[in-house]
Amino acid sequence: MCPFIYLYFLTKLTQVEGLFVREGFDAVFISHTHSDHLGLVYDIHPDIPIYIGERGYGIIKVSDAYKNIRSFIPAGFLKHKQKIKINDMTITPYLCDHSAYDSYMILVECMGERILYTGDFRGHGRKPFEWTLKELPKYVDVLICEGTTLSRVKVDVQSETDLENDVVKQFREAKGPVFVLMSSMNFDRIVTMYRAAKRSNRVFLEDLYMAEITSSIGQSVPNPATFKDVRTFVTRMYPSDHPRRKLFLKYENRVGINSIKHMNFVMCVRTSMLSYLRNLNKNMSFEYGLLVYSFWSGYRRNPVMIEFLSECENMGLKIVTMHTSGHANEDTILKLIDTVKPKEVKIVHTEIDTKRIESIIDR
Ligand SMILES: [Zn+2]
Ligand SMILES: [Zn+2]
Repeated sequence: MCPFIYLYFLTKLTQVEGLFVREGFDAVFISHTHSDHLGLVYDIHPDIPIYIGERGYGIIKVSDAYKNIRSFIPAGFLKHKQKIKINDMTITPYLCDHSAYDSYMILVECMGERILYTGDFRGHGRKPFEWTLKELPKYVDVLICEGTTLSRVKVDVQSETDLENDVVKQFREAKGPVFVLMSSMNFDRIVTMYRAAKRSNRVFLEDLYMAEITSSIGQSVPNPATFKDVRTFVTRMYPSDHPRRKLFLKYENRVGINSIKHMNFVMCVRTSMLSYLRNLNKNMSFEYGLLVYSFWSGYRRNPVMIEFLSECENMGLKIVTMHTSGHANEDTILKLIDTVKPKEVKIVHTEIDTKRIESIIDR
């Protein structure tokens, strides 16, 4: 009998309970590092081999070390078009564009049948979608495709480059400090905000956590270790024997609050940094300042986010949303289907109902 591999799971579903006690699972493949795909990987039985992109894993390792969490140990790494054999199955990863770095689509071949799982992907990032389409296998039996945006209001997606141009306008118009609320792991967005900061003559500031993550990648992502115009800061004073103090001191491009208050900057922030922002506001005025909200709008309903945004407004910041989705829109999904030419399509990662799915893919 063909061994069974779950390609996409990590919400604790009853069907995959065996993953935590090692029953009938030969391997686990992680398409990318977002927590809805990776979150429970730490609970997987240690005898079950785990595969993930090497650069993606590098980021997770740095993030875990910063948070003092013990990382999982992968059995092997996903690399574009490098086949992995698991019993009588062949697994082939295909690099794709998504808001998480090092994301893969995964082809599973077994007993003459082929399943392609898209993971999460998009066609409007900095990596050309045409390249992805050219690389992908054709005439698969089943395409398991993500459909996140299908259950959202249909809007035209903006490319990261167009977003950058809009952000530049906002940064230039702001006469006070600029803050950007975004993920420390969305590298396309970090590049967008860094380029916009540079084009508006502002210094780009990353807190220590973001600095550790971006610096682990090297030259391709703005980071304070290799970019002269990126600086890092800490949100609290760590005692001299604290591991984070040592991490901070290794950066030549580090900066303290007394310098920051005189700078023309774009500071990357997270909701956990609210008390630091209050403290910074005691040292400098936020008048005519800006907070760019750069996440999916649905997160604005989160109580922690509500509190953060309202406090920022109280401190004098104007809040603007500037974001483009990390997921494929309807046209991109149809383009993928048209290229891969599957016999059957299954849409997952969506709240949309089956009827609507059928009406979309039958077009
Ligand atoms: Zn994702
Ligand atoms: Zn996802």
